[in-house]
Amino acid sequence: MLTIDLDAIAENYARLRERMRNGACAAVVKADGYGLGAARVAGRLALAGCDTFFVAHLTEGIALRSTVPNARIYILNGLYAHCAADYADHDLIPVLNDRGQIDDWAGYCREHGARPCAVHFDTGMTRLGLTPAEAGHLLDDPEILRGFSDVLLMSHLACADEPDHPLNERQRVEFERVRHRLPAYRTSFANSSGLFLAGDFQGDLGRPGVALYGGNPTPGAANPMRPVVRLEGRILQLREIDASRTVGYGATHEIRPPARIATVAVGYADGYLRSIGNHGHAFIGDYRVPIVGRVSMDLITIDVTGVPETQCRPGCWVELLGTRHTIDDLAAEAGTIGYEILTSLGARHHRVYQSEASPSADSDREAG
Ligand SMILES: *Cc1c(COP(=O)(O)O)cnc(C)c1O
Repeated sequence: MLTIDLDAIAENYARLRERMRNGACAAVVKADGYGLGAARVAGRLALAGCDTFFVAHLTEGIALRSTVPNARIYILNGLYAHCAADYADHDLIPVLNDRGQIDDWAGYCREHGARPCAVHFDTGMTRLGLTPAEAGHLLDDPEILRGFSDVLLMSHLACADEPDHPLNERQRVEFERVRHRLPAYRTSFANSSGLFLAGDFQGDLGRPGVALYGGNPTPGAANPMRPVVRLEGRILQLREIDASRTVGYGATHEIRPPARIATVAVGYADGYLRSIGNHGHAFIGDYRVPIVGRVSMDLITIDVTGVPETQCRPGCWVELLGTRHTIDDLAAEAGTIGYEILTSLGARHHRVYQSEASPSADSDREAG
């Protein structure tokens, strides 16, 4: 069972927005709202006053449009060739990532009327956005930007979660050069961690993702965000171990008797990553219990020796993610990052969305 606290997401949004001098903050809801459900997340954030969203794909933007009819929706992956009319029809704003996209969107606007865009400058990520050379040409002759009704200048930080990394300052200087040459336009620079960097990394529009969903934007320091997800799995069966034996595929864990092993109905097909096997932990009440043996597709096994039987029967719930064992804790055990834990959760969990504010309230359950 996956419980998603929409009010915590709204609270996290308010905390992040407070970090912006001008109080202007968007929300990144790509990859189906980091796996938590873009429509539910964006709907709740709109109630909290968020009027700007970023997604990766055009199809994500089209799907989101009906949920937030009046919001600005930016498409990070750019303007796809021959698709300008699809962006316009759904009132979606392309993040223009190269000169060809700028020319295509400007051409569309000349014919059909001026529309907004973002222009993405690659200041060090080497992934998407105008190369330094393309940026140089645009800055020397920015006339083409006058064909758009609004331009957001954008760049993306590569190392914002490492405050001391020298690339942060190099990117800031590079982006400042752009901003200085195009002072008429608003800027968007900071992702979640960028909002917590000391110095002038904010820009005019915050662009956080993971921190909304409870991920720690300040790794190594206390998490300033509220936890959002709770993942529980149901115990299917218990085994009393009175002679030495192994558990699971590959016989990777040997159990020393006497012991009790519980089998729980969550596996790697549910986003409980296989690399957690023999590394992870879960909670039963206040008992912290280890994952033993490999993670199977649909099952894990935990050592519940010492946990009172009343809390540890078939049908009882085991907490795999929650306030005491966060997405970042589980990510550390899995050798990955909270982003991957969230976006891996998948469709098989029974989902419960909690919100006092949403018209559908917390009794609203969705199978999935
Ligand atoms: C994913 C993404 C974000 C959000 O980053 P977080 O680290 O999740 O806050 C912001 N901007 C761009 C371009 C992104 O791809």
